[in-house]
Amino acid sequence: MFKTRDGSPFECSICTDRDKSARNCRNHKDLLDGAQAVRAYTDEVTRELGDKGAQKVFSLGDVRLYECPLSYLTEDTYCLMRLVFLIEDSGFLLYAGGWGEQPHWLVEAFEMYKVERALALRGGKN
Ligand SMILES: [Zn+2]
Repeated sequence: MFKTRDGSPFECSICTDRDKSARNCRNHKDLLDGAQAVRAYTDEVTRELGDKGAQKVFSLGDVRLYECPLSYLTEDTYCLMRLVFLIEDSGFLLYAGGWGEQPHWLVEAFEMYKVERALALRGGKN
């Protein structure tokens, strides 16, 4: 498989239309929200994937992506993830004071990270 310089097998700018279709870049198959990143195959998700002929593009732990990871994870998401890692590694928050002084979106992002990490750790032990 072709890999870019940073080791990623995904490089939307050089993909053919066929590649983009196969990887559902920018969700051009117009999958419903719950069917783009799947943790559990409910009847609704299974029907949606079947109806639109979507194929799994990428797995990360127990999450299966049915959209190209480069378009599913936006630049904002990457920035937020880096900020959360930085806060955890450094022990410093974004603004002075405690968690009560932080913007709501940051508190929410940190909580989501904690939940995802706990799920990933639990999954790793199964
Ligand atoms: Zn793509």
